[in-house]
Amino acid sequence: MYRKRKINEKLDSFYSLRFPYTLERKSKHRYEAVVGLGGNVGDVRRRFEHLFVVLQKDKQVSLIKTSLILKNPPFGYKDQADFFNSILVLKTSMQPKVFLRYLQRLEKKFGRRRSFANAPRTLDLDIIFFDNRKINTKDLIIPHPFYSQRESVMIPLAGVNA
Ligand code: AMP
Repeated sequence: MYRKRKINEKLDSFYSLRFPYTLERKSKHRYEAVVGLGGNVGDVRRRFEHLFVVLQKDKQVSLIKTSLILKNPPFGYKDQADFFNSILVLKTSMQPKVFLRYLQRLEKKFGRRRSFANAPRTLDLDIIFFDNRKINTKDLIIPHPFYSQRESVMIPLAGVNA
């Protein structure tokens, strides 16, 4: 069940029991990661809810916070369905590269198929921040490049930081 709020002509926000959410207890894990999630194939919000349950059960991470869900038009390749985006704040003791592989396994589990850049996707998970670290390698750039120019990240993120 979702409450919907129109932000403007192009953007809608959705609220449910799990989005937004805040964990009330402490986590034993060491690092804090901010993860962007998105998708535009099939029932994306239902997939987000399922991901929430999977993460909540997983001892390798603590799900600390989630944001609202934002519905927004695609950028890049425009001839595809609108995207749903949200933000997760997770704690983990994994190092960034290991955490990236962990997220990639989740993308696979949720049926991600890679085709071309900015193509339709079932579930996309990006590391936006990892503690205060700056990383710039072939496989991993943190903070995530361009995040500050994307309202699909900045609008959900604003609520999480509040
Ligand atoms: P995309 O298809 O947009 O999800 O991009 C996936 C690729 O981006 C992967 O091969 C990652 O190695 C790379 N990548 C670089 N920086 C990041 C990041 N901060 N979070 C997730 N993927 C990243």
